[in-house]
Amino acid sequence: MSLLYKSTRSVSEPVTASMAILKGLADDGGLFVPESIPSLDVSMEELSKMTYQEVAYEVMKKFLTDFTEEELKGCIDRAYDSKFDTEDIVELVKADGAYYIELFHGATIAFKDMALSILPHLMTVSAKKNNVSKEIVILTATSGDTGKAALAGFADVPGTKIIVFYPKNGVSMIQELQMVTQKGANTHVIGITGNFDDAQNGVKAIFGDADMKAELDKAGFQFSSANSINIGRLVPQIVYYVYSYAKLLAEGEIKAGEKINIVVPTGNFGNILAAYYAKNMGVPVEKLICASNDNKVLYDFFATGCYDKNREFILTSSPSMDILISSNLERLIYKIAGENAAKNKELMTALSAGGKYTITDDMKAKLADFIGGYATEAETADTIHAIYENTGYIMDTHTAVAASVYKKYAADSKDETKTVIASTASPYKFARSVMNAIDAKYDEMADFDLIDELEKLSGVAIPNAVQEIRNADILHKTVCAPAEMKQEVLKFLGIN
Ligand SMILES: *Cc1c(COP(=O)(O)O)cnc(C)c1O
Repeated sequence: MSLLYKSTRSVSEPVTASMAILKGLADDGGLFVPESIPSLDVSMEELSKMTYQEVAYEVMKKFLTDFTEEELKGCIDRAYDSKFDTEDIVELVKADGAYYIELFHGATIAFKDMALSILPHLMTVSAKKNNVSKEIVILTATSGDTGKAALAGFADVPGTKIIVFYPKNGVSMIQELQMVTQKGANTHVIGITGNFDDAQNGVKAIFGDADMKAELDKAGFQFSSANSINIGRLVPQIVYYVYSYAKLLAEGEIKAGEKINIVVPTGNFGNILAAYYAKNMGVPVEKLICASNDNKVLYDFFATGCYDKNREFILTSSPSMDILISSNLERLIYKIAGENAAKNKELMTALSAGGKYTITDDMKAKLADFIGGYATEAETADTIHAIYENTGYIMDTHTAVAASVYKKYAADSKDETKTVIASTASPYKFARSVMNAIDAKYDEMADFDLIDELEKLSGVAIPNAVQEIRNADILHKTVCAPAEMKQEVLKFLGIN
């Protein structure tokens, strides 16, 4: 059975999975969604005996139906290998009354590795399938985590080049070091003298520049995006929800068919949407709990049915969730609008024009699977502190937002359903905030001393991703003004 992808914004000819991966965004500006969500063809019993890679194949083959078995298995094997520091690829840790699914055992110690380690392979296979002979150039603007995960994923992948722009003074020391020490002749990292929005707008302008597109075309290149709206990122994320359910079953923590709750620390709504897809594929899930930090647009949306980004943007200790426009929510809006592209487009147009929209009561009724919650900065820090004191387990700030939301939910609702919390980053990645939450005395320590201290407290070895940047050479030193981004791209590609 072949599954095609259609746009959320107009009724147009659906495309194959490989085409949707290559294009990223539909021509009408909508997101690609599968015409239907497929069911798993193996039972949870069977899945519980499989490796991560085997589960990945069972899930992904249902979505990427124009990939052959050999192609898809090849992508999976190249992605989920020794780049991960655990053979199981993800770890399930029981602590403080919940199960933490640790999605940070990849090359850059954040959950984005789960999708970005396979996306380059899905893309190069997709290019071959569609007779694209041009070299693929990935352009990305990053506020920190995505850039490094994309660099690590695309480094030295034949047929690709990757260019990452980041705000020179807007990322953490660890994040900057991770990027500027990136190896691989096909990688290029540039700091810009502006903020993340400047970087993002610059990249969008380059994507929309017809002259530039023509010049690249002549030189044998084609742009693509590693953005989280690409279905090549969404589909691999479904895998770990299926896998974690199967693992709970294998370990006797749940009975066959028993429902679980899933809590996801959310920014762009990609990770939690993958959990929703897993539920729709047949994983027994009761509630999907969407956890926000102080930028609680989604919490307000689930409470009122009104999405309103007109508010102050708050910088928090969970920066990867500091987002006011959750792009992937559009896929859910389209679905609850009864797959009505015109209705979805009307709401998205209202969002870009006035920064807000309100869904109908009918649509709101279809959100019963979701519960919104949020945690303040103080609650997040208190949660890190309390769970460390009670159990010795140390979590990062993003995961702590989810843990805090879960605690409040469990206390209010008395819901005793077993619960999986998506753990999206290693505490080493946000060591300063984490250590400060444990004890204010750490405030004075230098960054790498904090890392050593965290190792002592947690008993978890310093991950390779942190170890290797301690003494690594700085390989990328270019800094440019936002207005010079286009020139930098042409220079790197050897066109000017
Ligand atoms: C990107 C990110 C998130 C948010 O995930 P979305 O899919 O954008 O909702 C949460 N935590 C960390 C550490 C991240 O890097």
